[in-house]
Amino acid sequence: METNPAINETGAAHAPPAASAVIRVEDAHKYYELGETRVHALRGVSIAVHRGEFVAIMGASGSGKSTFMNILGCLDILSSGSYFLEGTDVCEHDKKALAMIRNQKIGFVFQGFNLLARTTALENTELPTLYTRIDKAERRKRAADALAMVGLAERSEHFPSQMSGGQQQRVAIARALVNRPSILLADEPTGNLDSRTSVEIMDIFQNLNDKGLTIVLVTHELDIAQFAKRVLVFRDGKIRKDDPVVGRPRAREVLMTLPTLED
Ligand code: ADP
Ligand code: MG
Repeated sequence: METNPAINETGAAHAPPAASAVIRVEDAHKYYELGETRVHALRGVSIAVHRGEFVAIMGASGSGKSTFMNILGCLDILSSGSYFLEGTDVCEHDKKALAMIRNQKIGFVFQGFNLLARTTALENTELPTLYTRIDKAERRKRAADALAMVGLAERSEHFPSQMSGGQQQRVAIARALVNRPSILLADEPTGNLDSRTSVEIMDIFQNLNDKGLTIVLVTHELDIAQFAKRVLVFRDGKIRKDDPVVGRPRAREVLMTLPTLED
């Protein structure tokens, strides 16, 4: 059996894991206490995700996908097991330190966009930079660059209500990228979008991944998962399948075969 440098003989996590793993999770368990009952949402999840990977997570509702993503995103902590993010043991940090790690290393995209309504696309994108030491001019520039990356340079002064769902999600992606994170986490980012717009979002993800960004995405749809490089299937809080995608389609090419809204 292969020896794991992160685990010593007693099973405790000590030495940092291989540097190339952006994410390393070992025997992760998560319980939620609900009054008398206890929900065992993650039941021994172990996985490594390396730099440049693009992972899709599938599985039935309630299988633990969001719980796992929230752990990866430092929005919640494990009940037991370990999580190394770029070699740093996340469990050793308090809430304040976790918030710092989250802001610097993680970009999170949600199903519901979560943009501020009375705030322009540029200002929404700029928000995560307010907690950094970057000066104002540089913050503006980074926000503008991030918007350009998702093809929205011309919409920077638009408010969310003036944009389509797809455009709003692109702003949310720009906001997730603005601090140049190590990983982009997306929990059902296309769940509220029509099929063409969903593929447009996957085109953006593939382009970002081509540039080296590590992405972990949750989706209900097999069609969407196929744009990733690797698909995990969760069931009852465990990873039941972990397979590479063979013959992965390019979203750009698929878009050419799909009707536009005007058709
Ligand atoms: P998925 O995203 O795959 O639908 P979740 O991770 O949201 O699954 O949920 C996994 C299990 O944990 C479910 O049984 C769910 O009801 C439970 N759960 C999720 N979040 C909470 C919470 N905050 N409090 C209590 N139970 C929760
Ligand atoms: Mg979920």
